[in-house]
Amino acid sequence: MITDLRGTSLREDDIRSGKVLTTNWHGKIDFAWDAGIAIGQFLHGLKAGKLLGRKCHQCQRVMIPPRMFCERCFRRSDEWVELKDTGRVNTFSVSYVNWDASRRQTPQVPAVIEIDGASPGMGIMHLLGEVGDNVKEVLGRVTVGTPVQAVWKPPEQRQGSITDILYFRPLGNPGTSTRGR
Ligand SMILES: [Zn+2]
Repeated sequence: MITDLRGTSLREDDIRSGKVLTTNWHGKIDFAWDAGIAIGQFLHGLKAGKLLGRKCHQCQRVMIPPRMFCERCFRRSDEWVELKDTGRVNTFSVSYVNWDASRRQTPQVPAVIEIDGASPGMGIMHLLGEVGDNVKEVLGRVTVGTPVQAVWKPPEQRQGSITDILYFRPLGNPGTSTRGR
């Protein structure tokens, strides 16, 4: 009967006496994660200061981030292509909220960057930098289509990660390319 299904509250004594099993186990779990062939090569490229795309000879598209398979032609992609570290802003956002939902004093500007040499619409998500400290300044310096260039970490600090690029800055800003090899 349904009326018999009421639960029984746990008491401290149940836990102390071992009637209820509890654990304060803190696991140490070592693990490895394989990025796969395409993204693995892409990350190797970043460490060397290169943006690598993948070309399909059938539809002629150059894809970044790279993939080993052309989803349009339904066949294996053919060739690695080194792309420029420049591109154009496809879309962007001015965010005053951190990843942990805390408030920021100065905005972060995440953006999708269409990389030069890749097919239209192909790009990577990253941050824009050197674009101002408030939303008014950002909107004065960035718009959809603004040309940008990657600002790289120094070669010895790169780890084969998307964060090997610090951010993209609008082209025409003073400063020199940090690409280096
Ligand atoms: Zn294709």
